[in-house]
Amino acid sequence: MTDTMEHTETVDADTTVLDHWVNGAPWAGSSDRTGQVFNPALGIVQKRVRFASRDDVGEAVEAASAAWALWRDASIAKRQAVLFNFRELLNQRKQELAEILTAEHGKVLSDALGEIARGMEVVEFACGVGHLTKGAYSENVSTGVDVYTLRQPLGVVGIISPFNFPAMVPLWFFSVALAAGNAVVLKPSEKDPTAANWMAALLTEAGLPEGVFNVVHGDKEAVDALLEHPDVRGISFVGSTPIAKYVYETATAHGKRVQAFGGAKNHMLVLPDADLDLAADAAVNAGFGSAGERCMAISVVLAVDTVADEFVAKVSERMKTLRTGDGMRGCDMGPLITGQHRDKVTSYIDVAASDGASVVVDGRDVDIDGDPNGFWLGPTLIDNVPTTSSVYADEVFGPVLSVVRVEGYEDGLDIINSSPYGNGTAIFTNDGGAARRFQHEATVGMIGINVPIPVPVAYHSFGGWKASHFGDTKAYGPHAFEFFTAEKAVTSRWLDPSHGGINLGFPQHD
Ligand code: NAD
Repeated sequence: MTDTMEHTETVDADTTVLDHWVNGAPWAGSSDRTGQVFNPALGIVQKRVRFASRDDVGEAVEAASAAWALWRDASIAKRQAVLFNFRELLNQRKQELAEILTAEHGKVLSDALGEIARGMEVVEFACGVGHLTKGAYSENVSTGVDVYTLRQPLGVVGIISPFNFPAMVPLWFFSVALAAGNAVVLKPSEKDPTAANWMAALLTEAGLPEGVFNVVHGDKEAVDALLEHPDVRGISFVGSTPIAKYVYETATAHGKRVQAFGGAKNHMLVLPDADLDLAADAAVNAGFGSAGERCMAISVVLAVDTVADEFVAKVSERMKTLRTGDGMRGCDMGPLITGQHRDKVTSYIDVAASDGASVVVDGRDVDIDGDPNGFWLGPTLIDNVPTTSSVYADEVFGPVLSVVRVEGYEDGLDIINSSPYGNGTAIFTNDGGAARRFQHEATVGMIGINVPIPVPVAYHSFGGWKASHFGDTKAYGPHAFEFFTAEKAVTSRWLDPSHGGINLGFPQHD
């Protein structure tokens, strides 16, 4: 959150200020606090964003509650129609949204379009709300008595999202929340907030009634207000592990249903029988895509000793072909989100060297195709990383790929299972038996077999284990409809002259 204090000298009175979005329109709220939004490829502040006060959040929740009273009774057909419209509009205008993502996050345009495509997949999935919220029916559980279940929306739900997927992560949650009949208050990352307002305007254009989807911008004050508000029934959070844990504990203590997705340290195990060219391609793509700022990025390769030299040579060879620079110029990799984050990531390269690792490719020496003031760090490869080094243990969240050498499968698996995180992991091998053991034995929520970033498709659910996930339901897929609805069981008997009479015993079946 302190990143927003950088470069204050570049702000002038003419800077654009991004409002909240409440009741179907931009809304300034009452707080005069704002934060800076950078263009990371230029290293300048391009706009400011309002930081909501507790009262501002209260007003947004009130608007959402009022709108929910009607939206909860909108037919499934009506909700589906809005989502279908939204999906069509999003598909037509995705280039506009991608350019917003590149300008504020820094990821290259093709990657921004990929993020939108993966988010749109969840909108398409959510259009199946009719099928996915069907209940169960048991006839004649007792003579003349039927039992059936209904799934009903929770009410107002809060979504709190991270900087690294400003479109996709909100889409994961609000598509299903809205389809299921909830009203939403989204608190996006203050670092790249514009995508949230853009999507809010598109939802309004798609026919969503005013107040059903709202956006409040801000920092801890806005988040705490959502976590504690008595009318917010559920919270979906994505961000770093310490904040995920805090959000989970605080919101559950306030009686809410919570799913909180945290940080990660994803390992890729390369066995000697793997196709090393395929594995090297995968390590480069998954290590440096989006400058390593993905929760499913591969940040550690566990290379078996017998093939490690060859593997490292193949990876470094490929890294020479990468072009780092402005995401609007067709580069492979863009800048980091802020100067402060870039400096933190860079400091791990020094740490690694002093911990005895060897820096094979040093991203500090990279030639940039972009403005020299951008928050740059080129792809970095570090070999022989000891697992005691903080570059191994910490979530670095940048373009730094560590190679840890291992003796074989068991050694590699031990390292993976000893990690406090359990988001994603991958094995590269041509041995089906080894792959099958791996999927069974790894204590990680998402497993890739010769696939480095195993983010499930929208009709399966997404989520890690251990410190990567707090709560019991995952994101999107069938879990999401479970999270955003409450089940009700109805036991019914239609009057029949054979029944009646007094009986104080616990109901039994006859
Ligand atoms: P972050 O934890 O700093 O921020 C996430 C959200 O929490 C933001 O909206 C932010 O404003 C808010 N926040 C920050 N500090 C807070 C505080 N003290 N109290 C209350 N709210 C606070 O995360 P980030 O830097 O925006 O995103 C990167 C992190 O997100 C990485 O750790 C990454 O692994 C993780 N992530 C996880 C997943 C997943 O599915 N597991 C997906 C994407 C990102």
